[in-house]
Amino acid sequence: MKKRYLLAPGPTPVPESALLAMAAPVIHHRTPQFSEIFKETAELLKYVFQTKQDVLILAASGTGAMEGSITNLFSPGDEVIVVNGGKFGERWAKISEAYGLKVNMITVEWGKAVDPAAVKKILDEKPGIKAVMVQASETSTCAAHPVKELAALTKDRDCLLIVDGITAVGVFDLPMDAWGIDVLVSGSQKAFMLPPGLAFAALSEKAWKFQETAKCPRFYFDFKKERKNLKDNTTAYTPAVSLIIGLGEALKMIKEEGLQNVFARHDRLARSVKAAAKAMNLKLLAPDAPSNAATGVYVPEGVDGGKLVKYLRDEMGVTMAGGQDHLKGKILRIAHLGYVDTFDIIVAIASIEMALTKLGHKAELGKGVAAAQQILLEGYK
Ligand SMILES: *Cc1c(COP(=O)(O)O)cnc(C)c1O
Repeated sequence: MKKRYLLAPGPTPVPESALLAMAAPVIHHRTPQFSEIFKETAELLKYVFQTKQDVLILAASGTGAMEGSITNLFSPGDEVIVVNGGKFGERWAKISEAYGLKVNMITVEWGKAVDPAAVKKILDEKPGIKAVMVQASETSTCAAHPVKELAALTKDRDCLLIVDGITAVGVFDLPMDAWGIDVLVSGSQKAFMLPPGLAFAALSEKAWKFQETAKCPRFYFDFKKERKNLKDNTTAYTPAVSLIIGLGEALKMIKEEGLQNVFARHDRLARSVKAAAKAMNLKLLAPDAPSNAATGVYVPEGVDGGKLVKYLRDEMGVTMAGGQDHLKGKILRIAHLGYVDTFDIIVAIASIEMALTKLGHKAELGKGVAAAQQILLEGYK
């Protein structure tokens, strides 16, 4: 027997209550029964997004909401700024270019956060810029960008701040309305504790104004149409019925814990992993701007990171993520977002110590675990 643990930055573990709810026989989506669930769920989403605006629910992975944010708000030839500090920043640029937008790329060293001054400089030089696109949490490098500072830059300009919050919403504080974020997107398989398949997007009043004149081609991801349907407690096309029922359960859990407590839990888990990394002499990938969603560490000299990830997964049953592109084989990403608590961290750290030992790296067993435990104790009376 091998018990499996999912500690990757998406998909993340799904709580039992959501699994059970999703296992129920499928109900028809054009019924009062489904509309009632949909209405309640859409309301709870606003709480997690910290907004008064509607949160659109799309049947897609997170990228669908990213694409829709571009096609619904811009026209070919529009000029935008993309903060590219990893694989997901790169994705903003790729989608923008696919629809004929002109991209001003700010390339950020992997593991670092963007300097708001670099964004301000382009905004000042080019008053025609229509948007700044960024990740609140760049999952590929485990770094967080300064969204609040960026929102202060776009607030009084005719320019939108578009934030990929796919590993940030429900992880750390990202108050959409209070900070002036114009578009906030997320996806089901991260902090929302669900299987992949749902994408979310919320738009500010300012963003909805952009929607009125945007000319990019679009069909399935038609935000205006979805917003109209949402008012009638439904979606334009067949919703992912079971996932939305699961979402209702997951959101109730978040509401019950309380958003601030959810953030505090993620913060505690993140700090415990960082303390463990320090005790294990593992260098952090994003020491200056770490995201509370996942912690990236460089694997020790002489250890093949690819082999480590495989050993953890195939031999020990613990799935974590490695690195992409130039970080392939060099890093390990330990996720701590969503349905994750104290003893998931113990599993993560203990398995890393054991796997490294098995792969020939000399390390004292238990040092990382003990360091994590010190922090994790804060979670108990
Ligand atoms: C997971 C993720 C995405 C979306 O990826 P999908 O595979 O389309 O769900 C986008 N941005 C970030 C930061 C992510 O972590």
